[in-house]
Amino acid sequence: MDLQTLALHAGYEKDSQRTMAVPIYQTTAYEFRDVQHAADLFALKELGNIYTRLNNPTTDVFEKRFAALEGGEAAIATSSGMSAIFFAIANSAEAGDNIICANQLYGGSLTLNHHTLKRFGIESRFFDVHDHKQIEELIDDKTKVIFYESLTNPSIDVADIQAISDIANKHGILSVVDNTVATPILCRPFEYGADIVVHSASKYTTGQGLAIGGILVERKDLVSKLKNNSRYTHFNEPDASYHGLVYTDLPLPPFTLRARLSLLRDLGATSSPFNSWLFIQGMETLSIRMKEHSKNALELALYLEKHPKVKKVNYPGLKSNSNYALSQKYFQDGLASGLLSFEVSDLAEATKIVDATKLYSLVVNIGDSKSIITHPASTTHQQLNDKELKNCGVAPGLIRISCGLESINDLIADLEQALNC
Ligand SMILES: *Cc1c(COP(=O)(O)O)cnc(C)c1O
Repeated sequence: MDLQTLALHAGYEKDSQRTMAVPIYQTTAYEFRDVQHAADLFALKELGNIYTRLNNPTTDVFEKRFAALEGGEAAIATSSGMSAIFFAIANSAEAGDNIICANQLYGGSLTLNHHTLKRFGIESRFFDVHDHKQIEELIDDKTKVIFYESLTNPSIDVADIQAISDIANKHGILSVVDNTVATPILCRPFEYGADIVVHSASKYTTGQGLAIGGILVERKDLVSKLKNNSRYTHFNEPDASYHGLVYTDLPLPPFTLRARLSLLRDLGATSSPFNSWLFIQGMETLSIRMKEHSKNALELALYLEKHPKVKKVNYPGLKSNSNYALSQKYFQDGLASGLLSFEVSDLAEATKIVDATKLYSLVVNIGDSKSIITHPASTTHQQLNDKELKNCGVAPGLIRISCGLESINDLIADLEQALNC
C-alpha cells in the first residue's frame, strides 16, 4: 500500500464500538482475567497489556502505524525524541563501549554525546557526515553504534545512507538514523540498509507543534544481524533482569522488545496515550504536509539565493547545493523537507533580520505548520564552543527557517522587508 493509505489505516483494528477515530485509552493499568493470565503476560507466553508504562492500546496504534510508514518491523514510542535517541544508544552500548556520531547533529544530541553519555562511561567519537573514511578509522571492537541524521538539523546536509550502512554492515555494527527532518514520507533509511530509525515526533509527526514525543523503529530481520554477534552479547545471553530471556531466541523483534522490557520498564520515558493520539492525528496528513513544506522551502530558498545580503543558502533541493545529488537519490521526488538555513554577514546582521520578521515566529522548534525562524548560535547551539560550532556547521550569521504552510507570497514578502530593514 502507498504511504498515504498506511498513514490513515495501518495498525488500527476497530473494537466493538467501531469508532472511526482511534480511541484514547486513558488508563494506567489493565485487569488480568486471573492469576494465570497475569503470569502468562509477565512471562511473554501471551502478549497483552500490563501497565501503561510498558504498553497502551492507543500508543500501540501509533507504533504500528509508524513502523508501517518506515517499512520497519516494530516500533516503540517514547516521551520525547531525545529519549528515543537515548534508548537506541542505551539498548546497544554499556560503560566501556563507544559510539560513532556525525558532527552534524541536533543540539540536544550533541550535548548528549559530548557530555551526558560520558558520565555513563560511553565514549562518543565524531565524524564529518560527508567523510566516511573517518568512520572506519574510529571503529574498534567496542564500537556499538554509528549514529547520524538523514537530513541534518541545523546544518542541512544529506547523509549518504547507503555508504554509511555498508560500513556498519561490514563491521557488524548497528546504524541508527535520526529521520526527524526528512520523515518517512520523503526518505526511508531502511531501504538503504539502516538498522534503527529514531524520530522526534514533536516536529513533523504532530505537525502543528502540539506535543513532545519520540519513536524508535527497528528494521525487518534485525535479529539476523544481532544473532551471535559478539558486539551484542546482551542480545545473545540470558537477561538476568528478565528471568533469563535470550532476546535473539524469541520470535519477536529483539531490539524494540528489549527496549520495552528493560528500558521502558526501568527508565519510564513512556508516551502518554493522549500524545500518542495526537501523533496519530498528525500522521493522517503527514504526506500532504511534507509535499507542501518542501515546495514552500524550495521557493523560499530560490528567493534567498538571489538576495544580495545573503552569503549562502543551505537547502538540498537547490541545484547549487553540494547535497543536491544526494537529495535526488534519497528523497521522494527530490522533495527536501521544510528546513533551510542561510548565512548573512555576522551576528549583528542576523539578529536584526530575525527580530524584524513578523510572520515567522522566533521559536526553537521545527516542523510546525506555522513558519519558524531561529538563530542557532544564540539558542539551540549556545552551549557549544567555537570549534564545536564550526564542526556542526553553525556560523554566527546563520539563520534557520522551518518553512510552514502559509502562502509562499506572504513568506517571501515578510523576509524581504526584514532583509531590507
Ligand atoms: C527536535 C529534535 C530532536 C529531539 O526531539 P525532542 O522531541 O525535542 O526530544 C532530535 N533530533 C532532531 C533532528 C530534532 O529536530
